Amino acid sequence: MRRRFLIIRLGAIGDIVVTTTLLHGLRATWPDAHIGWLVDSRLAGMLEGVDALDRIHRWDRVGWARSLGPLRLRELGVALAALRAELRAEAYTTVLDAQGLLKSSALALLAGAPQRWVLRPREGASILAHHAVPARERIRPGDEYRDLLRALGAHGADGARMGLQASARATESARALVSRLQRSDGFVALCPFTTRPQKHWFDDRWADLTRILAACGLRCVIMGGPQDRVRAESIRDASVPGTVSIAGEAPLEISGALLALAHLTVGVDTGLTHWSMAHRVPTVALLGSALPYTTAFDGSIVLRQPMACSPCDRRPTCSGRFDCMRALGTERVAQAALTLLGQPARA
Ligand code: SF4
Repeated sequence: MRRRFLIIRLGAIGDIVVTTTLLHGLRATWPDAHIGWLVDSRLAGMLEGVDALDRIHRWDRVGWARSLGPLRLRELGVALAALRAELRAEAYTTVLDAQGLLKSSALALLAGAPQRWVLRPREGASILAHHAVPARERIRPGDEYRDLLRALGAHGADGARMGLQASARATESARALVSRLQRSDGFVALCPFTTRPQKHWFDDRWADLTRILAACGLRCVIMGGPQDRVRAESIRDASVPGTVSIAGEAPLEISGALLALAHLTVGVDTGLTHWSMAHRVPTVALLGSALPYTTAFDGSIVLRQPMACSPCDRRPTCSGRFDCMRALGTERVAQAALTLLGQPARA
């Protein structure tokens, strides 16, 4: 019987990128399987160019949240019934809840599949699944998904890597943007922004990095979302002339496609940095307060300073000094970047 898998990973950007490890491991093991993915509709564009995926199901999180008011419960019921019908029409045999939260496990129930697996269950999510794969220490990006693949009996588990190709449309737009920026001969993508201040590096260091890289003939493009625009422009203004910012200019899918065109990426623990790695673009990842992994695959470098307080995740105890990130000096980051590009180390 043809296997029919439904992956549930609703968000966030970086987690979706890394969850593609699971998708590719499934595809390598069961080439004829039907594989669907349930994702937050606002992030569905990320998956539109992925050949290994047969179907994208969109969860309208914002619409569902709006419908939670007492006068709109009927709307929620209609949306729920529609999603349930859409999922059941695919007759999934196995649901893989890669999010591990109560909401994702509840959505997993809608598919009506005979087998439900949950990865790293929290909030009591394991109650709603037949099988749970617990958390363990992660060393390389995607280790938890390789654990799930092994539990499923997938022979392609060990070789599974994340990979998130952009759609042809997004790639075309990214090429046009790179051409407009006059960076068709290559550039370094800088990804300084994320949601938690303790994960950030420092604005003056980003600017200093552009100066060091410019001295080696490398020009930088600062990336980010609309909420990062002001800070990105501030970094750009302090940077070497020729540095540009596209923060807030490109939709997410085009930013992802643009990363595939970069010579190199330097970024903090944020979705775009993981996306760059998924493209196999040489990437320097600056980690500290969170450790989603400690070692990158060949071709990328994880820089971090081991500290007694790290990882602190959402509870920093350093009174806003962020010593773990401060310990990553600009010269060290630049050396890592130049090493990846095969350029001579600086004296
Ligand atoms: S508490 Fe430690 S790990 Fe957390 S942000 Fe501060 S220095 Fe970094």
